[in-house]
Amino acid sequence: MLEERKRMVEDLVARGYIKTEKVKKAMEKVPREKFVPPEHRMSAYLDQPLPIGEGQTISAPHMVAMMCEVLDLQRGMKVLEVGTGCGYHAAVVAEIIGEEGKLYTIERIESLYKKAKEKLKDYRQIKVIHADGTEGWEEAAPYDRIYVTAAAPEVPEPLKRQLKVKGKLLVPVGRDRFYQDLLLVEKLSEDNFKTKNLGGVAFVPLIGKYGWRF
Ligand code: SAM
Repeated sequence: MLEERKRMVEDLVARGYIKTEKVKKAMEKVPREKFVPPEHRMSAYLDQPLPIGEGQTISAPHMVAMMCEVLDLQRGMKVLEVGTGCGYHAAVVAEIIGEEGKLYTIERIESLYKKAKEKLKDYRQIKVIHADGTEGWEEAAPYDRIYVTAAAPEVPEPLKRQLKVKGKLLVPVGRDRFYQDLLLVEKLSEDNFKTKNLGGVAFVPLIGKYGWRF
């Protein structure tokens, strides 16, 4: 599996998704096969999303790489992830921010939260939370970076509020089930934001008070 992981990373470098050494090292280190259900282990190093139960998915490796690069993660940063899923993306981010950083990750589905918490237990810098992530996580705010791994109908207001000035928020936004825009929101001052559209993506829905209400 180590050889397959190395090949996947080389492929992501060649295709331009991995641009920096820190993202490369993190993705070389985290065993994606340990985060996917046993029946999908043989497909762990294909560049595609895979089912993780409860109708949810683990994101494709190129999406994890691209999101880490765009966020420009640095050692020691305080980060909020909305949508833990199986915990793979969180593990990659934790490797980049190091033990001096802190990652709060929120999952709304209890069974996924429990499994991810177990898989991430050796990362002292990660706190896994069972809650509605559309409300953010006020008690640890403000954050240097916030990213959302499910698609919202619009940018959730609490996440904008809980971002530090000069902080970055990455969130898929759109009203189509199979197509959304990945938005990068930079907080220029307390009430001034700059939004850049990074292009089309397809994520599962973000369900909650400031997301979809199904
Ligand atoms: N980050 C994951 C990975 O490692 O590949 C992928 C996560 S999956 C694409 C999106 C996750 O967001 C799902 O597990 C879903 O249950 C979760 N989710 C949806 N709405 C949420 C909410 N309001 N708060 C927290 N998690 C939410």
